[in-house]
Formats: sequence, C-alpha cells, structure tokens
Amino acid sequence: MLPSAADMLRQLIGSPSVSSPDERFDQSNRGVIDLVAEWASQLGFSVRVEALPGQPKKANLIARLGDGHDGLVLSGHTDTVPYDADRWTDDPFELTERDGKLYGLGTADMKGFFAAALHAVARTDRARLRRPIVLLGTADEESTMDGAKALIEAGERLGRHALIGEPTGLRPIRKHKGVFYVQLLIEGRSGHASNPALGVNAIDGLQRALGALQSWRETIGARHRDDEFEVPAPTLNFGKVSGGDSPNRICAQCTLDLDIRFLPGMSRAAVVEELRNVVAEALEGGAWSFELRETGAFAEAFAGPTDAGFTQAVESVCGCSAKTALFGTEAPYLAELGLQTLILGAGDIAVAHQPDEYVTMAAIGRATEVYAALIRRFCIEPA
Ligand SMILES: [Zn+2]
Repeated sequence: MLPSAADMLRQLIGSPSVSSPDERFDQSNRGVIDLVAEWASQLGFSVRVEALPGQPKKANLIARLGDGHDGLVLSGHTDTVPYDADRWTDDPFELTERDGKLYGLGTADMKGFFAAALHAVARTDRARLRRPIVLLGTADEESTMDGAKALIEAGERLGRHALIGEPTGLRPIRKHKGVFYVQLLIEGRSGHASNPALGVNAIDGLQRALGALQSWRETIGARHRDDEFEVPAPTLNFGKVSGGDSPNRICAQCTLDLDIRFLPGMSRAAVVEELRNVVAEALEGGAWSFELRETGAFAEAFAGPTDAGFTQAVESVCGCSAKTALFGTEAPYLAELGLQTLILGAGDIAVAHQPDEYVTMAAIGRATEVYAALIRRFCIEPA
C-alpha cells in the first residue's frame, strides 16, 4: 500500500542525498531514487533508473504512466544542499513535527514535492488518461546540474508541459535569473613583513580588484535591467575571501569567491570575459598575476514558456498570476528539451538552504490538489 504523504516525506528525509562540488560532502542520491521508484511502480508507472554517465552513485529517475508523447511532466531534484548539523534544532534527517511544521533537510527543497506528486497521481482516475504523466527525479541539481545535463544528452522526448516542484509557495514562476560562481585568484610573492619591497602583496591586489568590481557592478546594472524581477539588475555578491598565513609575511596569494545572478538574454561567457578584463585593468602596472575560474554550481537564466495557454491554465488552477524568481532551477534544461515549463511547488524558498528548513502538511495537501487538477487538465481533458 502507498504510504501517506507524511510517511513518504519521513522516509525521503531519512535518506540523505547531499550533493556538493566538495567531495567531502557529496553523497549518492540512490536511496531517494529507489524510494520514489518503488512508490511510482505501485501506482502503475513504468520506471527507469538511469545512472549518470561515469557516476554510478548518482541517478535520474524517469517514470511514465500512460501512452503517447504529449503529456505532463512533474519534475523534482532528489538531492539537497549540505547542512550545518549543530545549527539545526533537531536531527536534519529525522522528520520532526512542531507547531504544524515538518522540519528536516529537503522538506521544502524539495522532497515534499515527490510526496505531493505521487499522491496527486494516486487520486487520478488513471484509466481515463489520454496523455501520459511523467515523473522525473534528477540528481545533482544543487551542485553541477549533471542530472539535467544527462537528460539533455539523452535527448528523450518527455512530454509537452512540465512543472518543476521547487518551493514557490504554490505560485507559478515563469521566469528566473541565471546564476554562476566565479573564483578570482590573485598571486603575488611572499616576503618579510618588515620591508614591502621584499614581496608582492596579493591582498593589495585584491583591494584594487574589489574597487573595480564594485564599479563594474554599477555599470552592468545600468546596462541590463528587467523590471519584472524583484531585483531588476544583475547582481554580483562578494561571498568569500581567503588568503595569507601570517601577519609577519607578505601575503603571496588570496582568493575571492563571487556569486553572479544574470538576466535572461545575457550570456554567461560574455560576463566572465568582461570580469576578466575588469580585473586585468585594475591590476595593470602591478606585479600580480591572476586567474579567474568558474566554480561549482550554475544555472542558466530561464525566460519562461512561450505557450500562454499553459501559463493561463496553471494560473487559473492556482488562483494567482505567474511571477519571476531570483533563484535558478532546471527549467532551462527542460525548456531545451522542448517542454513548456513552469515552476510550482509547496513551501517557501526563504526557508530552503538553511537550518530548520520546513514545510507544512497543509501546503503539501494543497500542492497535491493543485497537481491533481493539472493532471486532469493536461492528461485527461481533451486538449
Ligand atoms: Zn531546489
């Protein structure tokens, strides 16, 4: 028998699936994939678990129910971000209920989605399906997007419409910014602190670079703007600085890690190129050398579905208009596979990626109803 939604969530939270570009934190997602695969099979889906190329510990799940090609894809990622165990009130891998909230790593982002999606299918009169339901579970969305990239590589036709169940408070999201990380490494030469002429201080170089990057941030904000976003300009965040070893040595090397969020229509490659020029110019005349490299996670910007009818249908079921978001998702990949895609799920993105992440049972219940209504609309009713 299919477990209750709360019980599903308990089991999914109990199966750790951290993904991280840092090998020390990176884990397999097979536990979560196997749970969802088992439940989907019980509902009559034909299920494929496909290991990512060269990564046996990581897999995507592709489950189909019904025949044809033009169905509705319900998609979620199976991994979570890493966590700070000592900043959680309770064990992040044990679903804990307090004040109507269900706490656990990945409750909102986004294991709760699978409980809602599976129960929406359970509620569907499956004998009446005219078009298929496809349930997707991807690997490594929080780190490399390798799961989504493997789907692109396979080039399989998955359906016509797609919903990605990231936490949006059940308000459809039709457009989002892109994000990528860059690390700037500045290299100087060490020497005795008593005489600056004995070395080249990398921190002095970084200070010049920082100034230049701050002005560049304003320039690019003036050049690119989309008022549909809460933060209409691209953003550049100085996230981490490290370097040096001792006050009495000239700092030979330091790094600055940046998070850049760009608008649909902007090219990531062009932004990196510009950054490189800005830093080169700032360091001109000095004895530093530098490197700029992209690190870890990134997501392309997503410009939204072209099928206005799809957006309207989802808006009418949700009872609210589609908005934009500042966080990245797998939507650009699904769009590349030809899917009309919106992002819609239970929970609040504001509680994701931090200690004491939670979702409410009421939100999961509401998501279940909304998904069931959209399955009816796109898989049962005449097109
Ligand atoms: Zn997510």
